[in-house]
Amino acid sequence: MLSVQKEADEINIQKGMGHLKKIPIRTCIGCNETKPKKELIRVVKSPEGEVSIDFTGRANGRGAYICNNVSCLEKAVKTKRLSKAFSMQIDMQIYEELRKTIEEQSSEE
Ligand SMILES: [Zn+2]
Repeated sequence: MLSVQKEADEINIQKGMGHLKKIPIRTCIGCNETKPKKELIRVVKSPEGEVSIDFTGRANGRGAYICNNVSCLEKAVKTKRLSKAFSMQIDMQIYEELRKTIEEQSSEE
C-alpha cells in the first residue's frame, strides 16, 4: 500500500517538472535558505494574534517557515527572526515547542 502511494507521488513530481512554479518554496528563518514548503515547519500567527506551530500547513494567518533542524531554530532564536516576522514578542514556549517538534521529527528518520 505504502509503495503504491510512493510511486504515485513520484509520477506527480515528474509530471510537474515543466511547471516548477507549482512547488511552493519558502525561506527558512534560521539559515535563510529557500526550500520546498513541505520540507519546512510552518509557524503561524493567527488573525487573533496567537502564535502556534501549524502542523497542517493550512492554518489561517501569517506564516513563517523553519527547517526541520535544531541549528536553524537556534539561529532564529538568536536573531529574533520570529519576533520580526510577526512583529511581536514570541513566547519562549513557542521555541520550546518547536524544538520538541524538530527533535521528534528528526528521531523518526
Ligand atoms: Zn534553515
